[in-house]
Amino acid sequence: MSSLVVTADRAILPGGAVGSTSVLAVDGAIVAVDAPAAIAAHPHAAGARQLDWSRRALVPGTINTHNHSFQSLLRGIGDDLPFLEWRDKALYRYSPKLGAEDMATAALFAFGEMLLHGVTTVCDFYYLNAQGNDHATATIEAARRLGIRIVLARCFYDWDGAPAAYRETVPQAIANFEALHARYRDKTRHLVTIQPAPHSQHGASAAMIEAGAGCAADAGEPWHIHLAEEQWQVEQSLERTGQRPLHAIAGLGVDLAQMIAVHGCWFDAGERALLAERGGALAYCPGSNMFLGDGVTDLVDLVARGVKVGLGTDGGCSNNRVSVFDEMRTAALLQKVHRTDGQAISAEACFALGTNTAGEVLRLPVGKIAPGYRCDLVGLDLDDPSLWPVQALEKNVVYALSSRAITDVVVDGQEVVTGRRLCNVHLDEIQSRVRQLTDGWSR
Ligand SMILES: [Zn+2]
Repeated sequence: MSSLVVTADRAILPGGAVGSTSVLAVDGAIVAVDAPAAIAAHPHAAGARQLDWSRRALVPGTINTHNHSFQSLLRGIGDDLPFLEWRDKALYRYSPKLGAEDMATAALFAFGEMLLHGVTTVCDFYYLNAQGNDHATATIEAARRLGIRIVLARCFYDWDGAPAAYRETVPQAIANFEALHARYRDKTRHLVTIQPAPHSQHGASAAMIEAGAGCAADAGEPWHIHLAEEQWQVEQSLERTGQRPLHAIAGLGVDLAQMIAVHGCWFDAGERALLAERGGALAYCPGSNMFLGDGVTDLVDLVARGVKVGLGTDGGCSNNRVSVFDEMRTAALLQKVHRTDGQAISAEACFALGTNTAGEVLRLPVGKIAPGYRCDLVGLDLDDPSLWPVQALEKNVVYALSSRAITDVVVDGQEVVTGRRLCNVHLDEIQSRVRQLTDGWSR
């Protein structure tokens, strides 16, 4: 049994911000949260490893519900171009050439930068599978090396207009998903989770979407799908099926209660009502939606209807940041300006979207500093001016936080960032790998 006690001057707990707090974890799971003196007297605290986070605030690790790790390599390469030009000049030009080692480089880069920004769980929506699992495995192993918690959302993709490296047949996708899921089954620590992800209405046939949702049902996992990101996707759905995106998906043999829709910028009121009624969830990526000029998801309405929403950064070349704290701020600002209402959504609501409700979206016991949850914590420097005055901690973490204030990160009771540095992989190694791989890449 390995016990850990983390003690900080302040904390954001499920009920709000509090003063001096200790968290006791055993084998990576939080067992008690209380005042330091009370935790010191706890039987499991005897002999525990002690982390002294004085002059720091302790907050839940943030959860990135949607990312494509390889896209960090393309950051800046296709920015500000029309979508089809970006796709052909950046995405389709470089991504099909990447091998397993390159995927590991991309993952070390994307996930390493995320850890430094306080992301403790990342969902990597993974479509460069090249008809196998070597690439996904390299990505997962890179996450394990860094110590970040990963959900590998393994893509189901069969649109023949995309590079061959993206495509599989339905039987291939099912067999590969099942093999990967069996290999990484971890229902104790949940450090690696495999979930199916039919790409989208344009990237996956109806049979492929049903196969992905079917694998999810068999595996007892949710499934992810990009939906209604851009307006043309609604028009294409209407043209091909006579129905808007979510209604078309609902007409297939799939369980919407297990679905995590990604984006949903163009869901109309009928689709939002249907999503709420069926218990579907949403991965919301406001930074990416703004960067690409996609549109504005009606987050306020979805939350009011009771839809579970988690924040995502999306890929490193469509944001171009990898911080969920940044998405909390972006989500709030975008909704406020969209509704021309400064009270459209609160800092506390957006903080929840990047922590506990995001954990619920991914079906993982993460995102809350409470007994029964995994011990994923971020330490924030209370001497950093971006958090002053500290009595407004919750507001300041969402609206004012500088990433400079993120000093320490713990995942599953293990330190993965200390003193603003990665513990398990040297940043110099990541930098030289990225430099070598992308040398000569141009816009
Ligand atoms: Zn995406």
